[in-house]
Amino acid sequence: MSVDPLRVRLPIDLDYMWSAGPGSSTYLQGLSEGRLVGGRCGICGDVYFPPRGGTCPRDGVLLDKDVEVAPTGTITTFCVVNVPFLGQQIEIPYVAAHILLDGADLAFQHLIQECRPHEVRLGMRVEAVWAEPSEWGPSLASITHFRPNGEPDAGADPSSRTS
Ligand SMILES: [Zn+2]
Repeated sequence: MSVDPLRVRLPIDLDYMWSAGPGSSTYLQGLSEGRLVGGRCGICGDVYFPPRGGTCPRDGVLLDKDVEVAPTGTITTFCVVNVPFLGQQIEIPYVAAHILLDGADLAFQHLIQECRPHEVRLGMRVEAVWAEPSEWGPSLASITHFRPNGEPDAGADPSSRTS
């Protein structure tokens, strides 16, 4: 009787080059400098952070203006991760949340730490915690996590700020 393996560990490498393109390059460069740079659509006016490849998905046009957004925002939804998985680097339980940064119109996902998972809630105000500047690079990993900033919660539906 044979058993199909459920998991195989073996050495594997994948070398490739990736071009971020003009829209994402400004965003990635900003992360290397401790700044959060999104892009604004010239038609609908929405600010995307990250700039999603430099194109507005609603209007199908290039984002025509770089916009620096705040390192503070509001949790619009979240998930408490309790299930271990292969390659996991964070001790469970932990919280992954969608955060709508002040000045942006689209939430993005990052970690919430420096509070207990059961304290996290919709509308909670949070701030970015940056890595040491020597560790900044063209990646969201320049921000290690977000933490509560002590401001009063936003309204019940912070996503209502989006158009
Ligand atoms: Zn648009």
